[in-house]
Amino acid sequence: MSRTTPREKAAEIFHAFIKAKGMRHTAERNAILDVVCRIPGHFDIDALRHELRARGSISVSRATLYNTLNLLAEAGLICVHHFEDRPTLYEFAYGTTGRNHLLCTECGRILPFENEALDAVLDRLAPPGFHPTGHSVEVYGLCDRCMHTPSGPVHHRETNITTHTDNDKR
Ligand SMILES: [Zn+2]
Repeated sequence: MSRTTPREKAAEIFHAFIKAKGMRHTAERNAILDVVCRIPGHFDIDALRHELRARGSISVSRATLYNTLNLLAEAGLICVHHFEDRPTLYEFAYGTTGRNHLLCTECGRILPFENEALDAVLDRLAPPGFHPTGHSVEVYGLCDRCMHTPSGPVHHRETNITTHTDNDKR
């Protein structure tokens, strides 16, 4: 018996989800999921288009991209983040219950962090009758780099948002 990777498991879940909705499998949706699973950390729609092209995948329209990302979010396979002053960011989230982030208000860096104690507290906070399936916590502040820049905080925003290291086990 071979072990199922998160990517294979995500594909299984997505196929079942699509089927339950009475929709068809399409090569486009499969290609998008395949790329989404491989992008570490956050990405926006342009980064995803770029990845799809770089991997020589079939060309996909913007509408199909949005549509598929919405389906993936509905299926619980990706997280959608609407951080202040940012384009909508997406993140492959299969196998995680919470996505917590530190956001630097100066340079715009976004760093994911894990905290089991926080996750447990948040899961317990739900009122009776509500069954939490996940959460997302945003902590605003200054990152180490901005805090210790001798000339004061840098005054430009980073444009590359997918370069941070993601330590999650996937
Ligand atoms: Zn910073």
